[in-house]
Amino acid sequence: MIDLTVEELKRHFSDNIFKRISETADELGLECYVVGGYVRDIFLQRPSKDIDVVVVGSGIAMAEALGKHLGRGAHVSVFKNFGTAQLKYYGTEVEFVGARKESYMHDSRKPIVEDGTLEDDQNRRDFTINALAVCLNRARYGELVDPFGGIEDLKEKTIRTPLDPDITFSDDPLRMMRCVRFATQLGFYIDDETFDSLERNRERISIISKERIADELNKIILSPIPSKGFIELDRCGLLELIFPELVRLQGVETRNGRAHKDNFYHTLEVLDNISKKTDNLWLRWAALLHDIAKPATKRWEPRVGWTFHNHNFIGEKMIPDIFRRMKLPMNEKMKYVQKMVSLHMRPIVIADDVVTDSAVRRLLFEASDDIDDLMTLCEADITSKNMERKKRFLNNFQLVRQKLKDLEERDRIRNFQPPVSGEEIMSTFGLSPCQQVGVLKSAIKDAILDGVIPNEYEAARAFMLQRAEKMGLKEVTNR
Ligand code: ATP
Ligand code: MG
Repeated sequence: MIDLTVEELKRHFSDNIFKRISETADELGLECYVVGGYVRDIFLQRPSKDIDVVVVGSGIAMAEALGKHLGRGAHVSVFKNFGTAQLKYYGTEVEFVGARKESYMHDSRKPIVEDGTLEDDQNRRDFTINALAVCLNRARYGELVDPFGGIEDLKEKTIRTPLDPDITFSDDPLRMMRCVRFATQLGFYIDDETFDSLERNRERISIISKERIADELNKIILSPIPSKGFIELDRCGLLELIFPELVRLQGVETRNGRAHKDNFYHTLEVLDNISKKTDNLWLRWAALLHDIAKPATKRWEPRVGWTFHNHNFIGEKMIPDIFRRMKLPMNEKMKYVQKMVSLHMRPIVIADDVVTDSAVRRLLFEASDDIDDLMTLCEADITSKNMERKKRFLNNFQLVRQKLKDLEERDRIRNFQPPVSGEEIMSTFGLSPCQQVGVLKSAIKDAILDGVIPNEYEAARAFMLQRAEKMGLKEVTNR
């Protein structure tokens, strides 16, 4: 957060577009302010994207007049139902809205809207830091209007609602998700009173669409330290309502003096680790879900201790239901997350043992183009507090990575297509599609992956002929 004098703040509005808005507003005799995230982000020195402008009067009239002024290059879209208009001018997007007063019914986050003053409009904003406004009219150009101490809260890194939080959150419960999201994205603290209100109003989240919740969750996951968001969501009880599977990862059980780790905090650590390495949202999702089936697969085996056999496969199977319920995309993104979850144990098993060519080849074959992401996930998964152990695993992973590179250069296994196709097998032996074709095909594949034969056509064909003979198949001549 930086301190800015009036002059310095003014300089942030020296762009031509602000000057033209100013002129138009004065001509129409309308008060006009830049408001919300754009102003906040100036003080936080974050790149600001969309510009929101509040007009005391008609936002649409203002946008249309400005569009005429700017002429060619300006494009105005009007959303009559919302009373808003968007102006695009080369790379810049400005959203115009009339200052409004909102009142809410209990069962909907769609308010009844009336015209209002700037103050009314600031009252309906979600947080003090999002209610900052800067006047654009010539006489007051660059003047900051901060009725709720938003600047103070920026300094203190505090998220606080402008009004009684029970009203702000109950009116539009999506704001509860936004509260945790901003705290996580910006690395801010949630004010105690605001936080207590999250706890009291958490059940209100039920009137919010799953898509909106998922949007906010994704923003939390894409934050620098996402664990913060999940810990806050859990602490206020929202996590139980929107993502119960994660809450079930919590807890440590001890038997005969042997405890397993708390899989909730382990998962969050893995998520934070991976977030240092990648901005790929779906790889971060894979980290969040990699151990999701541990509660379902937990067993006590007297001779071994706690086990979670097959938690990777059961986890893979749980994912479609989770994605469907949370209205996440049921497409190749989900399939990718499933693949990462199902394979997440493989590199560590390889690294724990003697690293054989055959095991690494098979891994490369199954993970194909996602092999690097899988290795990133596995490295993030090492959260052992034992430095020796941690070092050993990471060293072994280096070995696996080196072997992956060597093998790939030698064998071209990634996106591997067996060099003899099913069609060729059928025509060679005069077969129609049948079990024998499948048997031969996978025998060739296994021979290549196990290093019995090289990944080449001649060798594969010779191997096929030999194997077919053992199966009693005869080559038909006119091939
Ligand atoms: P970002 O764009 O980085 O997500 P932002 O603060 O710009 O952050 P937007 O969703 O673009 O967030 O909204 C712009 C402004 O509109 C906010 O700063 C806030 O003042 C107001 N706002 C948005 N959503 C709500 C809401 N649900 N309740 C109250 N005010 C809101
Ligand atoms: Mg915005």
